[in-house]
Amino acid sequence: MQNLVELRNVSVTYSNGVDALNDVSIKIKDGEFVFVVGKSGAGKSTFIRLLLKEIEPTKGRLQVNGFNLTKMKKRNAYRLRRTIGCVFQDFKLIESMNVYDNVAFVLRCIDASNKYIRNRVPYVIDLVGLKDKAYCKPSELSGGEKQRAAIARALVNDPQLIIADEPTGNLDSKTSQDVLGLLKITSQKFSQTMVMITHNEEIAQLADRIIRIEDGRIVTRSGE
Ligand code: ADP
Repeated sequence: MQNLVELRNVSVTYSNGVDALNDVSIKIKDGEFVFVVGKSGAGKSTFIRLLLKEIEPTKGRLQVNGFNLTKMKKRNAYRLRRTIGCVFQDFKLIESMNVYDNVAFVLRCIDASNKYIRNRVPYVIDLVGLKDKAYCKPSELSGGEKQRAAIARALVNDPQLIIADEPTGNLDSKTSQDVLGLLKITSQKFSQTMVMITHNEEIAQLADRIIRIEDGRIVTRSGE
C-alpha cells in the first residue's frame, strides 16, 4: 500500500528560534486511521500546517497525497489542499450561510456544475445525519450538529485525506463519541486516510495507530 503522508527527517524552527519539530520521520499509509497525540505545545499544529503547506520545513523532505511538497511552489498549494478535507475544533463554518450553502461553497469554489452540486450536497448532508437541518444557519445548530456540518463540508469534495484538528475539543463526551464514530464510518466508507490530532488520550482508542509527539519529537509509533 502506498504512503499517503511521508516525512523524512523533518525539522521546523520558527523565526523566533523555537524548534517545534525535530528530525521527525513519519509514514502514513493509504486508508490508515491515525491519531497524533501530544500535550499542548508538543508540535501537533506545526505538523498539520506542514501537511497543508502553510509552512515549510527548515530541514527534511515531505510528501502528501502524491505531491512532493518540498518541490511544490507555494502558489500551487491549492492543488494539494483540494485533496484534503479539514475538520477543526471551532468548526469554521460561515455563519451567514446555512448548512447546505456551507457545504456547497466548497464545490462552487472549484466550479463544479450546478447539477453535480444539487446531487452531491444533499447526499453528504444526509450521510452525516443533518437532512432536517440543511437550511439552518450554524447559530441554530448544537455543537455536535455544527461538527457534522463541518464533516459534510470536509467530505463533499471526496478528498483522499481528512485532517481533523481536535474535532471533539468543544463537545461533551457523548457527542464526541458520536462525531468520532461518524468520522470512522465515513473514512471507511470512502477509503479515506484520517489524521486526527488530539491532546485527549482517551478518545484515541479508535485509532489504527497512535503517533505520539513530545517536545517536537516522535516518541512512539504503536502498531507499526
Ligand atoms: P501543539 O499544536 O501541539 O500545541 P504547536 O505546533 O502549536 O503545538 O507548537 C509547538 C511549539 O512551537 C510551541 O513551543 C509553540 O509555542 C511554538 N510555535 C507554534 N507556532 C509558532 C509560531 N508561529 N511562531 C513561533 N513559535 C511557534
